[in-house]
Amino acid sequence: MRKGFVYLVGAGPGRADLITVRGAEVLKAADCVIYDKLANPALLQFVRKDAEIFHVPKRIGEGSCTQDEINKVLTEKALAGKSVVRLKGGDPCIFGRVAEELAVLIEAGVDFEIVPGVTAAVAVSSYSGIMLTDREYSSQVTFVTGREAPGKEGSNIDWKVLAKFPGTIVFYMGMGTLDSTARQLIENGRPADTPAAVIANATFPTQRVVRAPLERINEVCEQQKINPPAIVVIGAAAAGDTRFDWFAKRSLFGRSIVVTRDAAGNAGFAAKIVRRGGNPLEFETIRIRPLTDTNEFLRALAKVAQYDWVVFTSGNGVTTFFDALDSLGKDARVFSSAKIAAIGGKTAEKLSEFGIKADFVPGIFTGRELGKQLIGFTNLRDKKILLLRSQLASNELVEILSRAGAEVDNVALYTADAAKSDCAWLADGINDGTIDWLTFASPSSVDAFFEQIGVEAVNSAKVKVASIGPVTSERLKALGARVDVTAEEHTLDGLLGAVEEKEKKVKT
Ligand code: SAH
Repeated sequence: MRKGFVYLVGAGPGRADLITVRGAEVLKAADCVIYDKLANPALLQFVRKDAEIFHVPKRIGEGSCTQDEINKVLTEKALAGKSVVRLKGGDPCIFGRVAEELAVLIEAGVDFEIVPGVTAAVAVSSYSGIMLTDREYSSQVTFVTGREAPGKEGSNIDWKVLAKFPGTIVFYMGMGTLDSTARQLIENGRPADTPAAVIANATFPTQRVVRAPLERINEVCEQQKINPPAIVVIGAAAAGDTRFDWFAKRSLFGRSIVVTRDAAGNAGFAAKIVRRGGNPLEFETIRIRPLTDTNEFLRALAKVAQYDWVVFTSGNGVTTFFDALDSLGKDARVFSSAKIAAIGGKTAEKLSEFGIKADFVPGIFTGRELGKQLIGFTNLRDKKILLLRSQLASNELVEILSRAGAEVDNVALYTADAAKSDCAWLADGINDGTIDWLTFASPSSVDAFFEQIGVEAVNSAKVKVASIGPVTSERLKALGARVDVTAEEHTLDGLLGAVEEKEKKVKT
């Protein structure tokens, strides 16, 4: 039988993309994944669909049955020939109790590899600009666990020595004991006005940074309701230069933004928000259902090469089309010499993933513009045009092209069914003001959203509403909803750009 293997993998400090390349690689190949509370669940996107996943809650105390269970799963799965990934927050070997797990593996004769990760202290430093070392004032740094209650019998922390440590002191798990930590250090000779900083939820859009002198740091954290996980930094480094704090300056930093598309669309949109420092909240309003088994579609496909133009109007359309081609054992050659038009750069980009360079991409991304510009681009009289779109698309494009003398076949590739998901968190967030933005990228999302959330609840709350373009805004207004911004460029980037503009105005 194939011999199993265990990878102890550092998941990194928070953001899913801060895992190492090696970490992601072994995760992709894993048969079985065990991940703990500090590892970002978004990392599971790398995991194979058929892999077994074990979610291990935070361990409480030594010898807790949870640790025994982890050990049992690790060895049993490995001995059964599986490739097992044990995903641990940050770096596995920094306050990660890895030695206990390794001892069990060695005892059972299981081979292993340790994949390092970005440990919280290091990530905190990058994401807050608080440098742990500095050639002027901090030539050394020490990592300390705050779980060791000061004064506890048998403590490994020598407070006298630590207080005199001439560099940066970093506490992990230090929030519960912050008050006594500060006191111990001051009592043992560290000046009360030593700079201190606490960085919570580092690398996430919910990151918080608090700076205060050592004697006041606990009080300020309590006032500002700072919760773990957090790192405490003590020493001259903690004062740092606030201009280095690049992350908090990201355009959407700290903003909670609801995305309301289909699941795949939400995931892509969420990634864009994360890149701008925002906190995306995914709410699935619609499910894309392909209509590529209909006679209408199959007939159009059979004669697709006879069209002068084939028009795609969304990335979903492109994906659905090529999935259908693939399942029929065909590929892009079906188009032969037919020209291809795409609404929007994203649709064109999707086409290029399938080896197609669009012949025409209008500058403005609505059906109306595509029609007008296509007419300007080429003579459409007696030209055969195939529109491959959502069943819900408006008839306007068909009319414009027909008026220009084209023979238009409008074929539905897919439809969007309203999806029902748990919306209690959403209603609460709108109500209590913790959600800053609701974003809408299509009229069908608008309909499905307001079937579940009352228009009045939104209109009377401080939450703002952003729409991708005039068609979506019209649908919002028709339902009586307030529209705070409508994107001028009708793409997801355009939508976020409009939100950024509005946020800038609020800040200044
Ligand atoms: N092996 C982990 C540490 C585990 S101990 C690592 O290398 O990072 C857990 C402690 O890590 C928390 O109590 C907190 O102090 C710190 N920590 C983990 N993730 C963090 C984050 N995103 N922001 C701030 N501190 C974090």
